[in-house]
Amino acid sequence: MKQIQGKSVNIEEDIVGRITFEKNIFQRSNEIWVSKDTSSPAFGYAATITAKENIASNGKPYCIVNSVRDFNEGDVVIINKQGEIIFLYEIQSHHNAIMATERCNHRCIMCPQPPVVQEKDKTSFNLKLISLFDKNTQEIGITGGEPTLIGDNLFVLINHIKKKLPKTAISILSNGVKFADKEYAMKLAKCRHHDLQIDIPLFSDIAEEHNRIVGAKTFYKTVQGLYNLALFHQRIGIRIVVHKQTYKRLPQFADYIYHNFPFVAQVAFMQMETTGLAKDHFDQLWIDPYDYNEELREAVLLLADRGMKPYIYNAQLCVLPEDIRCYAQQSISDWKDIYISECDGCVLKGKCAGFFEANRNVHSFHIKKVEHISSDISC
Ligand code: SF4
Repeated sequence: MKQIQGKSVNIEEDIVGRITFEKNIFQRSNEIWVSKDTSSPAFGYAATITAKENIASNGKPYCIVNSVRDFNEGDVVIINKQGEIIFLYEIQSHHNAIMATERCNHRCIMCPQPPVVQEKDKTSFNLKLISLFDKNTQEIGITGGEPTLIGDNLFVLINHIKKKLPKTAISILSNGVKFADKEYAMKLAKCRHHDLQIDIPLFSDIAEEHNRIVGAKTFYKTVQGLYNLALFHQRIGIRIVVHKQTYKRLPQFADYIYHNFPFVAQVAFMQMETTGLAKDHFDQLWIDPYDYNEELREAVLLLADRGMKPYIYNAQLCVLPEDIRCYAQQSISDWKDIYISECDGCVLKGKCAGFFEANRNVHSFHIKKVEHISSDISC
């Protein structure tokens, strides 16, 4: 999440609020007023953010920042005692998500965000957050950890989004294990959300391989979860993180998906983010993406030729074979998406996913600016 450092004054406990530049008369208690040149913190707001160093403290909470240019009307932030301002929602982003829990029942070898063992339930905090989001938000992710570990509270969150943000699509990222319980899968269906997709990672067509990668014996539960969700007509995506331990069998795996899960709406092949456990296990996992192009190409085209919808996430267009570039998506969240100096002057820069910030120094040796578009990159 985007974060900036300020200096907190009169802030003892975390303050959450929606950013506003306007002087509102009503409903100010959930808003954080941002001003370049205020002389004292405003009355009635949750807090004030200002770029002015010397302001008359009247006991009200405020935070001094270098510049207010980072904020937009409608962003939602949390300010803590240490002066950290963390953006929980960015109005201009298409990658906003709530974290249902940081706990997980898997220990994936390449997890970018290692789970915690214990935590305070986040549901009431998340319900408040959802209420602060803009009504025109296109999509909200529900992520973790493993979101189904909050049990039926997952459906409380979905129904709250449905009520507060009726136009907003929901995308849930889950390992699918809990949906092996048919009743739980049915409860998701009973939410009757008009635009919900559940994305489930599966890493191999061989149970032992998948289990080794996720650190749990859950392959058949995830498979059962996929079938139960399909039984209740839920829209499902399958995700595969491609690394040294998964790339070799991509074509066989794609064939397995085609034969066993023809109902899935999409299949995403994802380049790995080298942070968290992926960084710890770097030598066991890293392979230059250029070196798995052959397997990736075969898998993607196998699915596409059979009428399924493959996508390639987090990949650099100059590294991909030209005939599968059209499947690549700009999938990296804005706050951690970067380009490197080799990209200067590249004609594909506006279309390319770029790089994870964490991969700034760990990327393909084959990054090279593209000077001419030799073929149409749409499918
Ligand atoms: S040079 Fe950079 S912007 Fe251009 S295709 Fe490669 S990674 Fe993308």
